[in-house]
Amino acid sequence: MADGAPSTSPIVGIDLGTTNSLVAICDERGPRVIEDEAGRALLPSVVRFDDGGGVWVGHEAKERAHEFAATTVSSVKRLMGRSLADVESDRAFLPFQVVAGEHETARIRIVLSGREDVFSPQEVSAMILRSLRERASRALGTEVSRAVITVPAYFDDAQRQATRDAGRLAGLEVVRIVNEPTAAALAYGLGAGRSEEKAERLVAVYDFGGGTFDVSILRITPAQREGETSFFEVLATAGDTRLGGDDADHLLLEYLLGSDPASLSPTDRRTLSRDAEALKRELSERESASIECVLSERTIRRTVDRAEYETILRPLVDRTLAHCRRAISDALKDRAAAIDRVVMVGGMTRTPLIRRLVGEFFGLEPYIAVDPDKVVALGAAVQASILSGKTKGALLLDVIPLSLGVETVGGAVAKLIVRNTTVPARASEFFSTSVDNQTSIRLSVFQGEREMAADCRKLAEFHLRGIPPMPAGIPQLEVQFLVDSSGVLNVSAHERRSGKRALLQVIPNHGLTREEVDRMEQESFVHAREDMTRHRIVDLIANSALDLKWIGERFDRYKDILEAENRVELQARIEALRGFVERARADWKSVDADEFYHAKDRLDRASVRLQEVGIAMSLKESRPKI
Ligand code: ADP
Ligand code: MG
Repeated sequence: MADGAPSTSPIVGIDLGTTNSLVAICDERGPRVIEDEAGRALLPSVVRFDDGGGVWVGHEAKERAHEFAATTVSSVKRLMGRSLADVESDRAFLPFQVVAGEHETARIRIVLSGREDVFSPQEVSAMILRSLRERASRALGTEVSRAVITVPAYFDDAQRQATRDAGRLAGLEVVRIVNEPTAAALAYGLGAGRSEEKAERLVAVYDFGGGTFDVSILRITPAQREGETSFFEVLATAGDTRLGGDDADHLLLEYLLGSDPASLSPTDRRTLSRDAEALKRELSERESASIECVLSERTIRRTVDRAEYETILRPLVDRTLAHCRRAISDALKDRAAAIDRVVMVGGMTRTPLIRRLVGEFFGLEPYIAVDPDKVVALGAAVQASILSGKTKGALLLDVIPLSLGVETVGGAVAKLIVRNTTVPARASEFFSTSVDNQTSIRLSVFQGEREMAADCRKLAEFHLRGIPPMPAGIPQLEVQFLVDSSGVLNVSAHERRSGKRALLQVIPNHGLTREEVDRMEQESFVHAREDMTRHRIVDLIANSALDLKWIGERFDRYKDILEAENRVELQARIEALRGFVERARADWKSVDADEFYHAKDRLDRASVRLQEVGIAMSLKESRPKI
């Protein structure tokens, strides 16, 4: 669909993160993150498969990940659009099985009692996206089917395609893919145009998340008058799709363990990794922190102080600063200009060492947005609002993160579109045949900065067919490369002499073929009903658990004050609901969603009196004693 097509259905902004995902909307009230029913903004990007064929997304899956290490998928973003060889170094740290799928893609193998399933990373990401879509639909009271999704600036074509396919599998039309740092700047830069901020300025966005690091240098030209356009131009991007908070956790884990983590069982590895992460967070707040981690064969007790942790972390931070150096030199070339502001994004930027070193590097006090977790999702929502025509006065220009080219004779790469060209970008190239009456040509497209194809990343192979038979070298095939506004490559070709369009068959190197996406989409319709029931039950478990905790505590405290009849009823209702929660946790298919709902409803009704008593008692308890 074209940008800004007339439609009243909302477009949401989604930050599909390695560690956490969020959904946001920008309407008359401005941009805001949509929370789940329990008031939580972040959805852990974690998916667990259970024996009953159920799928658990988010908090439930994360909380019990150490128990179900081999059937819980986390950091799936690292596998998106990648080959098995690409993710080799990650495999040692991933507690679930990664196997080779078609076209050497990385797939996830889940073995459950008596059966095995293989999922593509796109399908797993779609489960996360679907959960966010349903959350947004419920909160907004209307079916949400369009989204802007963010990706790291460094994502190549295959990874962007994979993200778009995941959206489609989740029933979302992906209106635009936006770079995360660009979204962050958009969320932050919209305030531009106020009288004191009219001058053009250079902003560095430093995004250190759970799985990826990106730095982007943006030029922001604020609107000079009301109703005019502000420009957000990405001058350069640098980063690493395999450098993030996870790596800090791994280093800390190795440090605590003192031996090779490969020797750990999946469960132990997950437990230690979880405790290392908690320790890391605590060290952002405190000078020293302790853990006591119970593994199957031993218990690790340690106190780590901040200086110790900083020594471990330092090499990672230095690597991020090397990327900053490169981005600045790409952006500024030889011009004498300075970065005006540094915007901090991502959970890891809460680390004092990172704030300090980034501040020293840029010679600026880092700008810490209110919430570094939400900035990207809020920016995506702002972009969504611009695309739907609701927000005016901002235009966004993005760039291609890596050069695109085709392989030539001898294995070199002829660059067609160079790095940091503004999108949309177009280039064309002529090819011919090398033998008489040749009717097809095979082309390989590469992405990367190196000269030789072997050192770049192969995106796809194109087979041009239907070339009219002619002597060698006579056909003139014009191949057009178009990188659209989302940074996704589209290729078309025609023969100049005959004017005939060449048939183009794309064989993606690490992605899904069109047929695979079609089939999966079809399957997701079939499963949609089941998914809805499952989702309802997952929500019921979460809400019932909160109710049981709240009501249970008050019941224990005030049961003696209640009338006997009410006490007996409450006791029975609590037990009934507990039973549902336990059974549903073991196998969601074993419970009936309506009955479950009624059990929760009955408890809620029976607890009215308890609430009154609770309020009366707490008033009494808090009354000052005279
Ligand atoms: P992503 O964009 O990759 O999903 P986030 O921006 O949500 O990631 O950041 C997640 C990372 O931030 C995790 O590695 C997490 O451990 C880390 N993190 C979150 N809070 C803190 C904190 N207070 N101190 C240090 N690291 C933190
Ligand atoms: Mg992020």
